[in-house]
Amino acid sequence: MLKIENLHASVDGKDILKGISLEVGPGEVHAIMGPNGSGKSTLSYVLAGRDGYEVTQGTITFNGTDIGEMAPEERAAAGLFLAFQYPLEIPGVGTLTFLKTALNAQRRARGEAELDTVQFMKKVKGLARELKIADEMLKRPLNVGFSGGEKKRMEILQMALLAPRFAVLDETDSGLDIDALKVVSDGVNALRAPDRSFLVITHYQRLLDHIVPDVVHVLSDGRIIKTGGKDLALELEKSGYGDLIAGEAA
Ligand code: ADP
Ligand code: MG
Ligand code: MG
Repeated sequence: MLKIENLHASVDGKDILKGISLEVGPGEVHAIMGPNGSGKSTLSYVLAGRDGYEVTQGTITFNGTDIGEMAPEERAAAGLFLAFQYPLEIPGVGTLTFLKTALNAQRRARGEAELDTVQFMKKVKGLARELKIADEMLKRPLNVGFSGGEKKRMEILQMALLAPRFAVLDETDSGLDIDALKVVSDGVNALRAPDRSFLVITHYQRLLDHIVPDVVHVLSDGRIIKTGGKDLALELEKSGYGDLIAGEAA
């Protein structure tokens, strides 16, 4: 479904990703772990096609199409979803307006009929209830004054609404207390499906207790230095990243 080959990328002329290759099949959940500054967020921004993140070598193929040159909106229309470590606050834009615009833009791009307000409200309220998001929150400007946990729930609501083929979640666990972590993880797990894949990026192992990955990759200094099963995350929790990185350097 998603194939990354020998990906090199730079920001402001600084090389950050230094040859990443990985392949995520349909229905699979891959985790990317790694110390701070290893390039995890850079990878998610490069996948999103964010301005200023330049691919200098390698390819990103999504369902057989090279998406390396596509605009972020085109990637979203193709079914890629990116949830970021620091969700945007958009003063003046109501949460519901934002969600409805995002959903209908996707539907238009796919040649599907747009939802009217009644259809949209029915859909969004059902999903919000499952994610324990209060109606009051939906009425506020997007993310403004939301707690960390509320922002994360809102990301998952957005993801559930857009029902992507492939979702990248960057540090979805940061700033979450245990209850919010559970709600967010349950939301992700409910979306797991044979034709939907996830790349879950996290510094800590605890998220992976709740969202159990099929494959774990360890990123260090812009390269994947180890790939394994879910047990790799548990090993790292015990030993830390230090030994693995030292072993790589030796
Ligand atoms: P992680 O998410 O794993 O903590 P990042 O992808 O945020 O890592 O950062 C990887 C490296 O890239 C770090 O050394 C960081 O300082 C550097 N970096 C990130 N953004 C920029 C930028 N805009 N300009 C220069 N260096 C950057
Ligand atoms: Mg970081
Ligand atoms: Mg990061």
